[in-house]
Amino acid sequence: MEAHQLAISCLKSTPNCARARGDLLSQIVTVLSKRKMIAAGLPQQIFTNIHYEPLKDKILKYKGWNQTTFNLVDWVNFHKAIISVPRLHRMSITKLSQGLWNTNVQNEKFYGHLNTCPYCHIKKETIEHIFCCNHEIAKQERDTALTAYKVMLISKRTPPQLVETIVAGITTGIAQSLSQNSDHPALEHQVGREQGATLGWVVFLQGYISQKWKDSYQAMISGKKSVQDSQTWAKNLILANWTYSKSIWASRNAVVHGKGAMEMEGKTITPLKRRIRELYLMLQKD
Ligand SMILES: [Zn+2]
Repeated sequence: MEAHQLAISCLKSTPNCARARGDLLSQIVTVLSKRKMIAAGLPQQIFTNIHYEPLKDKILKYKGWNQTTFNLVDWVNFHKAIISVPRLHRMSITKLSQGLWNTNVQNEKFYGHLNTCPYCHIKKETIEHIFCCNHEIAKQERDTALTAYKVMLISKRTPPQLVETIVAGITTGIAQSLSQNSDHPALEHQVGREQGATLGWVVFLQGYISQKWKDSYQAMISGKKSVQDSQTWAKNLILANWTYSKSIWASRNAVVHGKGAMEMEGKTITPLKRRIRELYLMLQKD
């Protein structure tokens, strides 16, 4: 704040901007944040001070978490994962992690559409339902995505016990959480219990993984790999979760909108054209 005031008064008292910059460069400025001197990373510090608290409050409110639950999440590797994704793809990742997919429950709220699932046409289409719909085609598409997901986990040297827990969580765990069934026989591993009972498996697929995952990984491969490797593994787990989730969402969108341009025209544009024609004819009759 003092630096800001100094800059303003210097600019006001000096009509020549070039000279003003020279004067400023001759000043020694100390920047403090929370009473600590900042020697480097000023833009990052300003960004954190402005955005951290509002963003945290939004996540707490949206997820229904308290501060303790919030602190269980591996934010360090969430950050590493998101900055490793090309900028163009970050928007779709953010929509996934913030629960902003246009499910039919959302479409009902904003556009008055039917809220039912496009596969089974029975259950409401929530994000949770997308990951566990029992319709045969939905299950087949999830199986395909799951096979690719397991290959990703194995290629990142995930211990078999963790692969088993993760797969049980994103299949059985999500389905059972919707039926209020607390019996998770396949999820007895400690980290599986924390993820399922405290954070949830859907948020796991949104990238909010427990910090215990990297600790479990490290314990299982102790002596062979460093702490740094467990951090890299956790980041890769988050990336794999996003890939799996986006694959499921893409399959759902193909059912709703059609896969190619021709199919999309058949499913979306043709009915709209027909409706416009009907309205136009009604207008002519009036
Ligand atoms: Zn369904």
